[in-house]
Amino acid sequence: MIKSKYKFDTLQIHAGSRPDPSTGARQVPIYQNTAYVFKSILHAEALFDLKELGHIYSRLSNPTVSVLQERIAALEGGIGAVCTSSGHAAQILALFPLMSPGDNIIASTRLYGGTIQQFTNTIEKFGWAAKFVDIDDNDKLKKSVDEKTKAIFCESISNPGGHITNLVEVGRLSKSFKIPLIVDNTAASPFLCNPINFGANLIVHSTTKYMSGNGTSLGGAVVDSGNFDWSESGKFKSLSAEEPAYHGLKFHDTFGPYAFIIYSIAVSLRDLGMTMAPQNAFQTLLGLETLSLRMKKHVSNARKIANWLEQHPKIDKVTYAGLKSSKYYDLAKSVLPKGAGALFTISLKDGYEACIKMINKLNLFSHVSNLGDTRSLIIHPASTVHRQLTEQQQINAGLTPNVIRLSIGIEDPKDLIDDLKQALE
Ligand SMILES: *Cc1c(COP(=O)(O)O)cnc(C)c1O
Repeated sequence: MIKSKYKFDTLQIHAGSRPDPSTGARQVPIYQNTAYVFKSILHAEALFDLKELGHIYSRLSNPTVSVLQERIAALEGGIGAVCTSSGHAAQILALFPLMSPGDNIIASTRLYGGTIQQFTNTIEKFGWAAKFVDIDDNDKLKKSVDEKTKAIFCESISNPGGHITNLVEVGRLSKSFKIPLIVDNTAASPFLCNPINFGANLIVHSTTKYMSGNGTSLGGAVVDSGNFDWSESGKFKSLSAEEPAYHGLKFHDTFGPYAFIIYSIAVSLRDLGMTMAPQNAFQTLLGLETLSLRMKKHVSNARKIANWLEQHPKIDKVTYAGLKSSKYYDLAKSVLPKGAGALFTISLKDGYEACIKMINKLNLFSHVSNLGDTRSLIIHPASTVHRQLTEQQQINAGLTPNVIRLSIGIEDPKDLIDDLKQALE
């Protein structure tokens, strides 16, 4: 974990940015620009040979996006970050340098439905596979790792249930197998959890959610802790051996701890092209400036609302890990000392029909497939974001037809409770 001399509230406003040297502009300019002028042929050659680092073409890097990358890396305590066009793109970017056809990852059964989908059918087309395992089951995890396993993938707070992953245990396990632990930290945000502290090697984010916060901009990021030795096991050849995709360059030899970041720009973004747009980076930077303030309010609202819901006679169960009744309550205290987030599910005693009625009656809660917005959001996962999963996959993720997901916003908690109250009655 890289320790900055500044604290979180300062970093979320300042990290990566300085007044624009040519104009003095204080806010980060939107460099709505494609290509960058080379000073000479020699300069161009040095850039393309990665002997000098600088902007070439905005599919690879862009000054506005670079500020966001530095800021996210600082907030997570990583050595660098690469931004992408979406959270889903970030997941592919995280895996791309590690994987070859025939390789697999171990993935938690409790992941965002879109991720389960991506890891089930789509990555199969690359010749990759995911073995889904209950992330709480250490023995199963151990037994699932084989010669071709290249990573363990989990969420710090799982979407939709708000379950907490024991990052210390999973981190220890991945270390013992010399494979990286990749943590999707979207639902926690770096304010509530820094997975690198618990042994994570790579962090992925959908910046679409809490980081941008306003529901305006798709985006993703991969943060590298810089603490994984890509050469030790000989398994990560794209980084440790001569890489034919970059005229035989050995990334780990040449760039040391920055191998993954530079590979992701020079090869992954170059060839897959899932680049973040500068306008989206700008919107996300605006959101990040208030991340800690929003997260505190998200958490305090979620606590109040989860407590209230748990007492309601029509509610069967509330999965919020900030509730004493949650089996993750103690774990949440150690992994997320500032709060267990603001995402959880409720199950209604009267089943699916009652869910539909409730969602239709809400006024303040928006019925959308998003989370981490300033606005409170609600969705019925089994019929929407988890719809393409099999029944067993839905059950593994904790989703029966009477389950609703809530993403608690930062409105006045009394207004939110009143809205839920009238909808339930
Ligand atoms: C939304 C989400 C994603 C996907 O991110 P997009 O920006 O929508 O592509 C991945 N993981 C989690 C936990 C998410 O909530």
